[in-house]
Amino acid sequence: MTDDARERAILAAAVPPNVRDVCATLSAAGHQAVTVGGAVRDALLGRAPGDWDVATSARPEQVLALFRHTIPTGMQHGTVTIVTGRGVESHVEVTTFRGEGAYSDARRPDHVVFGVPLVEDLARRDLVVNAIAYDPAKDQLVDPFGGRADLAASVLRAVGDPVARFTEDGLRVMRAVRFAAKLEFTLDAATEAAIAPALPSLAKVSRERVSDELRKLLAAREPSRGLVVAARTGIVASILPELPLADAAAWAARVDRATAATRLASLFAPLARGRFDDVTVRHLDRDVAAQVAAIAKALKFSNAEADTAGVLVGVAHAARWDEWNPAETRRLLAELDGKLRPLAIELWAADRSQPSESGEPAIVAKARRVLDAREPLAIGDLAIGGKDLLDDVHVPPGRIVGQILSLLLARVLDEPALNTRDQLLAAAHQLVLELGS
Ligand code: ATP
Ligand code: MG
Repeated sequence: MTDDARERAILAAAVPPNVRDVCATLSAAGHQAVTVGGAVRDALLGRAPGDWDVATSARPEQVLALFRHTIPTGMQHGTVTIVTGRGVESHVEVTTFRGEGAYSDARRPDHVVFGVPLVEDLARRDLVVNAIAYDPAKDQLVDPFGGRADLAASVLRAVGDPVARFTEDGLRVMRAVRFAAKLEFTLDAATEAAIAPALPSLAKVSRERVSDELRKLLAAREPSRGLVVAARTGIVASILPELPLADAAAWAARVDRATAATRLASLFAPLARGRFDDVTVRHLDRDVAAQVAAIAKALKFSNAEADTAGVLVGVAHAARWDEWNPAETRRLLAELDGKLRPLAIELWAADRSQPSESGEPAIVAKARRVLDAREPLAIGDLAIGGKDLLDDVHVPPGRIVGQILSLLLARVLDEPALNTRDQLLAAAHQLVLELGS
């Protein structure tokens, strides 16, 4: 089998039946209809394809007329959704071949033109590996820019002049580094060199679109493959100017080691305090937490994502310090919401800035022990509650109840063995006397 025949066989087998049917209907009506973009690329790579996109010579009105159930998703861009069954999985997006006018705002073409041939539609796409088309009806591959050769070489190249392509749509530089990470490809030299001149365009792209790309990049097996390129080309300085990046390779390697839930925090970890020889910060660093949350929110990460990343970076410094005693460890963990404690441990475990025998910072094992032993860390973990104070200690209702519980927790954090009903009631009696006098 020739390479071409082998690749056609892969695609023929990979195209889902409903997508094939949509292409067949368009072809039978005399139009050209191809699958194109990410799914073709992923199928040829042997990766699980995402959504299959269809491109066609038929005008949007002609597409609408050919199918019974349609949604006019974006008629002005030429996109029609065909409903081929039940649920969104049955939806197939069909977009009319289009050429593009100038991009005067670095975000969107000023206008799109229909009635262009397939090669022109492929020519407006960002990367050569994303500009391969497969016609299932004719069993034909259309690859005018050498996309399959790039897939074989694991290389990302812009279609056409890279500076022009990256400058006309600033999001493309983010897509390039995202695909470098996701596909584990390298950027062709001329394509990488085109990133820096396109950074003014990136600055004009909405932060939502930038963070969507960043989120996808962070979901890669090894985000470092994109982050290192993003750092050396100036993308990181453009989208995260606050981040001090002395050692980009170490920063990116830490992101790789971080778990999915702590990747965003690990990205911001360089904002954690750095010098501890003379600083005794053994608590949640609220200034850092607020700074990180504000940066992440400005980048349009959700409030929940941003706040979590903030708090985690607010305790990231703990990994730079070995001499945590059990009480200090418990006090630190007690400052975190229960859900964040395991995440803090995951983030610490990714930090390799201090040499240690196990590779992991000392706080990791110390904190794990506290959580595994289920030592009390919050008022809710105490062996008595507010009602016991009212009924058994005859504390008057009011703020004092919470104050006493906080004081009891502080003692229990120092000495977990105190967390029995009798000892806490006795301690509460004592506290009432002290507070009353
Ligand atoms: P994914 O696996 O993330 O879906 P994808 O390549 O399918 O990757 P999409 O955003 O779904 O990415 O876009 C589909 C196709 O449209 C791309 O493969 C590419 O050909 C083209 N494309 C998408 N965004 C751009 C862009 N900003 N500039 C040029 N072409 C683009
Ligand atoms: Mg896609």
